[in-house]
Order: sequence, then structure tokens, then C-alpha cells
Amino acid sequence: MALRTPDDYRSTLADGRILYYRGQKVDDICAVPELRVAVDHAAIDYEVAEDPTYRDLATFKDPGSGEEHSAYYKVPRDTQDLLDRSKLIETCTSLGGTMVTLIKEIGSDGLFAMLRILRGDERERAEAFYRHCRDGDLAVAVAQTDVKGDRSLPPHRQPDPDTYVHVVDRDEKGIVVRGAKCHTSISANADEIIVFPTRAMGPEDSEFAVAFAVPTNAAGVSMYISSYASGDLDPWALPLSSKHKMLETLTVFDDVFVPWDRVFLCGDPEVAGPLALTFVEYHRFTAVSYKLPLIDLLVGAAAEIADMNGVTKAGHVREKLTKLVIYAETVRALTEMAALRARVDDATGIAYPDPMTTNMAKYTFATGYHEALEIIQDLSGGLLVTGPGGADWASDEVRPVLEKYFAGKAPATERLAMLNLISDLTTRDFGGYHAVLAVHAEGSIEAEKMQILRSYDAAAARAYARRLAGLD
Ligand SMILES: Cc1cc2nc3c(=O)[nH]c(=O)nc-3n(C[C@H](O)[C@H](O)[C@H](O)COP(=O)(O)OP(=O)(O)OC[C@H]3O[C@@H](n4cnc5c(N)ncnc54)[C@H](O)[C@@H]3O)c2cc1C
Repeated sequence: MALRTPDDYRSTLADGRILYYRGQKVDDICAVPELRVAVDHAAIDYEVAEDPTYRDLATFKDPGSGEEHSAYYKVPRDTQDLLDRSKLIETCTSLGGTMVTLIKEIGSDGLFAMLRILRGDERERAEAFYRHCRDGDLAVAVAQTDVKGDRSLPPHRQPDPDTYVHVVDRDEKGIVVRGAKCHTSISANADEIIVFPTRAMGPEDSEFAVAFAVPTNAAGVSMYISSYASGDLDPWALPLSSKHKMLETLTVFDDVFVPWDRVFLCGDPEVAGPLALTFVEYHRFTAVSYKLPLIDLLVGAAAEIADMNGVTKAGHVREKLTKLVIYAETVRALTEMAALRARVDDATGIAYPDPMTTNMAKYTFATGYHEALEIIQDLSGGLLVTGPGGADWASDEVRPVLEKYFAGKAPATERLAMLNLISDLTTRDFGGYHAVLAVHAEGSIEAEKMQILRSYDAAAARAYARRLAGLD
């Protein structure tokens, strides 16, 4: 099987995986309406491959076998491959109302990292697992972030060793792992989970230097889904989050057996850091690609609401809109530049986006996001949180009052629709989620700064400074 349909994807999810949501065990994720939203959202990654408008972007033919596969699984070899990948991620996120779909994006980021970094037996296992995911057109999560306990202590010094996933047993058949990862996106509705170390490790952390993959229904894996955006969501007041959602889990590994053919790293702490970092290099490029619809929407919605409020010509409004445009276009330009400056790994021929530019794109996005929210909330006015709900709008008695008093330069029906969009995006559950996602997902701002400084080749600049100072 090379390409699955959205229904093929949905039909595999009730496979005995252990899920909890709001204190209850869930047997079939598709049968719980507020979780089904996340499954239908994720299915966009399958829908695009069937849609003639996107098919060329969303699929590729393997030159060897002639088989058609999802383009997410195309191993990048040059700048164009990275630009195409970025466009695909942007397109699916745009169809997903600014929420990334992620079920093939993050897993393929992880696979590319393994294909680049691993050698010997581990590389062969990674290649076999890559073919398994590509040929099965699978949805794949990556659980990298451990729960981490006391952040000032390395894994081996944690009072509870289970705060980092670690090996507790091994024999000729495989290893047994224990511990927990958190914030694991799309794991509840994925087919497979790739587990990576979250950080560089020293010799004493060797039992924590472990990478492997398990099916989501593997014995001993249990997932606790976050309760964000729970309950019935009013589609009038929440035009985005009532249709689009991503699920994160606390992912617990309770003595999970992993056969050797699915173990990619075990007891070799020197590989933990490079593997973690290489995944992050790809994943931050995915991140900045999926931010693009969100920042475009901030600009577009801000311009629309300013117009509907009748304030477009005011000097401060033009200045604020200009700031938003600069923000959006800087992130877009840096994202493109990360692909244009692509490097190709000599040993494998696999391309990767320029790490410094990728991190600058992600840093610029993350550090500018809250200011962008301030601008759009400022231009919108207080109705973002004091406005009516869908039941009010549906009421024959209330609606005429709303139509009369909430008209601006535009009729109330348009102005309230735009305010609802902005409110959903910036002030409600979805807004809070996006704001934290902006700062933390794909690594914290400090991690991006570290990578920028590390990637910058300072030698030429320093030599120039020394020359002008008369030192050399
Ligand atoms: C919506 C969302 C989706 C996510 N999806 C995934 C996913 O699919 N897979 C996955 O693996 N991860 C995922 N993440 C996790 C994400 O990568 C982490 O949130 C991020 O790396 C920060 O880790 P943390 O949340 O544990 O916060 P912390 O690491 O606790 O960070 C909190 C603060 O402490 C600082 N800090 C932490 N450690 C130290 C230290 N040793 N010294 C000094 N300062 C320190 C940080 O810089 C930050 O300022 C997701 C996160 C979010 C919010």
C-alpha cells in the first residue's frame, strides 16, 4: 500500500491503544466528538493527496520502484525539495485554519534525522523503519521532550529516574524501557511513535541515551490527552477551534518491550546530542513553515477589522499594520532563506535547511508573536471578549439588537464574524494554545538562541575586527 485514504487512516485508530481523556478511558478516539475533531483535522494530510489541486505537491514517485508516496516522506536532496516541503506544510496548515496537521510532518522530520546521523546496524534499522512509514503512508508522532523533573539535574541524578525515558532491561531480543514524555503532539491519533532523547547526554547518562519506535498500541504505552479546548465548541463564536485541533499527550512507557529492529540508539550517549539536534533542525524548519498561514492571518484580520471599525486611515493604525507586515514578511523571508541556504550532508547526500537561518526564523516568530497579538487585539477593541455567542445570534429576539448596535463601518454580521475569528485566534483556548505553542513548541527561545550563536561562523567577523583594531 503506498497511499492511504482519509478513511483508511481513521479506520486504524481503534486498535486497543490506551488513551485517557478528562479522567476517562477512551476505546475509540473517533467516537468521542471533541477528539474526533482532531482526527478529522489531521486527515487533511491524507485529503491533499486525493485532491487534484494539491496532488502534485502532496505526492511523489519513487524513481526506483515507480510507486507513488506521500511527499512528506520524500527525503530532501536539495533546496527545491526543502522549498516544496515547506509549501506542502504551509498548504496543509492553511487548509487546517492555522493549525498544523503534523501527522506526517513531525515523523518525517524524525526519520530524516535518523537517516542522516545513524551508521551501521542502527542506520539499517532506521532505513527499514523509514520504508515501513513511507510505504504504509503512516501517521507518526515524535516523543522527544521528557517530563524532566528538576531541570538543574542531568537524567542520572534525578531523584526519580523515570523522569527521563530509560532502558531498564535488555536481552538478545530487545530492550525494555520505562519513563514518560510529555507534550507529545498527535500521538493519540498516530500509528507509530518515535522516541528520541531530549538533550545531549554524558557517559553517566548512557541508560537514558535511547531512541526507538513503537506502534501506538504497544503493550505498556498509555497516553493521557490534554483537556485543552474540551466541551462543546460554539461554531459561530469559534470558527477555527470548533473545526481544528491538535492533541497532546503525557506519554507513559511502563516497561515497554522494544525489539532490536526498532531500537535506533541504546547506550551510546555521544550520539544522543547529535540525534536530538538534527531532529530539531528539521523540526524547526517544519515549524516556521507552518507558522506562515498564522502570521498571514494576523495581518489580514488586523487590516480587515481596522477597516470594519473605520480606523484604517489613522496614523497609529497604519504604523501598527506596517509592524505586522514586517513581522510576517521577515519570518517568511527567513524561512525561504533557510531552504535557499540548504546544506547537503556529504556522507548521505541528504539536504537540510541552514540551521542558523532556521533558528533565526523561529526566534523571530516566537519573540514577536505576543507583540503581534497586542496589535491585533488593540485594533479589534474589547468585543473580542465581551461579544455575543452563537445562541444570541441565532435568537430572533436578540439578533436585531446585535445587528443594530454592533455594526461599525461594516454591517454587524461581517464585523462580528471577523471579531469571532480574531477572538478565537487570540483570546480563547485556541488563542492561549497558539501563544504557548509559539514560545515553547519545537524548543524554547533559549534553545533557539543557543543554536544561532553556535551556528554562526564568527571567524571572519572577528578577523575583520582585529584587522581594523590594528591587532593582526
Ligand atoms: C503545543 C506544544 C506541542 C508540542 N509538541 C511536542 C511534540 O510533539 N514532541 C515533543 O517531543 N515535544 C513537544 N513539545 C515540547 C516542547 O519542545 C517543549 O515544551 C519545549 O522544549 C520546552 O520544554 P518544557 O515545556 O519542558 O519547558 P522547560 O524546559 O521547563 O522550560 C521552561 C523554562 O525553563 C528554562 N530552562 C529549562 N531547562 C533549563 C536549564 N537546564 N537551565 C536553564 N534554563 C532552563 C527554559 O529555557 C524555559 O525558559 C510541544 C510543546 C508544546 C507547547
